[in-house]
Amino acid sequence: MEKTIIKDKLNRPLRDLRISVIDRCNFRCQYCMPADQFGDDFEFLPKSALLTYEEIERLAKIFVHLGVEKIRLTGGEPLLRRDLPLLVEKLSHIEGLQDIALTTNGVLLPKVASKLKSAGLKRVNVSLDTLNDELFGEINGRGVGTKPVLEGIEAAKEAGLGVKINMVVKKGLNDSEIIPMADFCKKNGLELRFIEYMDVGSSNGWKMDDVISKKEIYQMLKEHYQLESRDPAYYGEVAKLYHYNDTDVNVGFISSVSESFCSSCTRSRLSANGQIFTCLFNGNGHDIRNFMRNGATDEELRDRITSIWSGRNDRYSDERTEETAKTRKKIEMSYIGG
Ligand code: SAM
Ligand code: SF4
Ligand code: SF4
Repeated sequence: MEKTIIKDKLNRPLRDLRISVIDRCNFRCQYCMPADQFGDDFEFLPKSALLTYEEIERLAKIFVHLGVEKIRLTGGEPLLRRDLPLLVEKLSHIEGLQDIALTTNGVLLPKVASKLKSAGLKRVNVSLDTLNDELFGEINGRGVGTKPVLEGIEAAKEAGLGVKINMVVKKGLNDSEIIPMADFCKKNGLELRFIEYMDVGSSNGWKMDDVISKKEIYQMLKEHYQLESRDPAYYGEVAKLYHYNDTDVNVGFISSVSESFCSSCTRSRLSANGQIFTCLFNGNGHDIRNFMRNGATDEELRDRITSIWSGRNDRYSDERTEETAKTRKKIEMSYIGG
């Protein structure tokens, strides 16, 4: 099927789709789903509210027809969704889709990495913010040490998946882990991405002072390694990449706070309960699930998605201040998955 390229009000094409398959998680990372606010009595979405795999596949096909080339599955913790390889397999048959990736905390990878690979998954990003067991347990809010995540990384490598590591850096929490993590990833041939701590949702108590900027992390790395800048591989690449000049390993930065990249943001997000978000920092999504369940045809779904994207003018990170971080209503990260 021929692709139609749709553009938003700021002339940005639709290229990537991030799909959250579940809002639950086995961790309570303090920068994402703090344990005091996501307690045992927290009401996650009932199963009937989640998009089924058939619904996701149907919407994904339409998104691909409208220009999407890459899909990333996320959550909550996406590996908690039963039979995830079945969804990957369905997506892998979509003509015109070039890449399927997954973001995970890694704990369940030993169980499913090879099934995911056989189903057509290409890459995983595993989140790991420290190599220190005690600190990791504190960050993930569940007292879990690094071992299961490291085993997950190994399992993904053995299965033949590309593996990158995501590290959120928060001042005073894990900035002392920047060099140990860089050393570990460099030695193990893993691309590490330092992510600036963001004001996602309204439960993580974000303050600008807690952010360690890309520039600060880069300066720390420069004291230990020789780095060479790499050109972006494609329009809209979010990470700024460098490579260590004595290896072919890359290291990257996602500088959403200090050097925002809204002007080339080509990403749409589909939440676990079937709402479309055109920015990570939107308060409300656009319902597509009920529209679909009420009998919308493919053409009607395509028109609705086109109209949502065409009306988009989001550039939250360009406009962020301490004030907007406090006052703007934003969707929680666990709903739309980073
Ligand atoms: N559970 C999976 C995981 O942790 O990889 C997928 C969902 S998680 C919401 C997606 C990504 O968002 C992770 O890499 C996580 O570290 C990142 N993230 C969560 N909260 C963040 C925050 N406040 N600032 C920056 N990144 C954050
Ligand atoms: Fe769960 Fe991922 Fe959020 Fe941590 S970052 S609480 S693993 S969804
Ligand atoms: Fe894209 Fe919104 Fe992030 Fe800007 S703030 S890069 S528009 S998701």
